[in-house]
Amino acid sequence: MRFEDLPTPCFVVDVALIEKNLKILNGVMQRTGAKIVLAQKAFSMTALYPLIGEYLSGTTASGLYEARLGHEEMGKETHVFAPAYREEEFDEILSICDHIIFNSFSQLEKYKDRALRSGRKVGLRINPECSTQVGHEIYDPCSPGSRFGVKREDFRPDLLDGVSGLHFHTLCQQNSDDLETTLRAVEEKFGTWLPQMEWINFGGGHHITRDDYDIPTLEACIKRMQNRYGLEVYLEPGEAVALNAGYLIASVLDLHKNGIGIAILDTSATCHMPDVLEMPYRPPLLDSGLPGEKPFTYRLTGQTCLTGDVVGDYSFDRPLVCGDRVVFGDMAIYSMVKTNTFNGMALPAIALQDKDGDCRIVREFGYEDFKYRLA
Ligand SMILES: *Cc1c(COP(=O)(O)O)cnc(C)c1O
Repeated sequence: MRFEDLPTPCFVVDVALIEKNLKILNGVMQRTGAKIVLAQKAFSMTALYPLIGEYLSGTTASGLYEARLGHEEMGKETHVFAPAYREEEFDEILSICDHIIFNSFSQLEKYKDRALRSGRKVGLRINPECSTQVGHEIYDPCSPGSRFGVKREDFRPDLLDGVSGLHFHTLCQQNSDDLETTLRAVEEKFGTWLPQMEWINFGGGHHITRDDYDIPTLEACIKRMQNRYGLEVYLEPGEAVALNAGYLIASVLDLHKNGIGIAILDTSATCHMPDVLEMPYRPPLLDSGLPGEKPFTYRLTGQTCLTGDVVGDYSFDRPLVCGDRVVFGDMAIYSMVKTNTFNGMALPAIALQDKDGDCRIVREFGYEDFKYRLA
């Protein structure tokens, strides 16, 4: 099937672009010996797990369901971190996760012995209290009042017995200079205990596959931890695996005017790309400009009854007409995983574009997907 013939709305993930990212990540693994696992929270398209598994060391998860997904569909190393574990889920987590990372000493005390008896690696998330991101507190685990990780002042060296690794995750879409700054804080606050560890996990948020990412600095950070403390280094990026590797195609259903030209699409910001409203950001759109940059400017809006269901303002070379298709870029990450059926919106189909350019639909959704999750 050609790209132009796919139904809308539809997510399309480009296999060649995913593989390009995987090769960059695998290069870091080859040159440094570090292990990189996919953070499934950002991207969980299981149809691509066999391909991802050819390049990466496994998956990480935010809880039982993601852990099961990684274990079943990729089956390599399975890591898990959760702010707190549920008692009734812990046996199953134990049966599938190689690394189990705890967010507090109380969780560690509660579950550590069972994890060690099952032969699992036990880790502790630390909070290096080193904010390197400006402007979006909801993505900053070092922000005041954050529930993530143990601070130096609450650290309990007497309870470290059996803990083989430390984990931090403080970055979001950042370059390796911020990793370097963060590592300095980690060493300053927790350096005393690094020599007794086997591994350290740098978390995610490393934009390794972005054009301007400084890979040599990342590799120097990895080697420093390996050489200075004898640690095995793990990274768990999500975004970097599928960055700029997917699209969301939509069609224009109607055109309207209220001070500005308005196009109503068969997609929705709130249902299909909620980060546009939560983050918030203006997604890239192929063949378009900023408002006013090209002759015809439109506000692209969604099909729900939420007034704020607006993707953004874009300009075009020619006027839009009903039936036109628009293609949003960088939609593989944090969009497919966050869709919902609010307002009875249909979920977008999911397709793959193969290396030869041919497209195939992997999954389609219908009325039942809406109905059965409500009661
Ligand atoms: C979100 C998250 C990741 C992945 O982050 P990206 O920004 O997608 O790279 C990795 N580890 C943890 C603990 C996370 O919460």
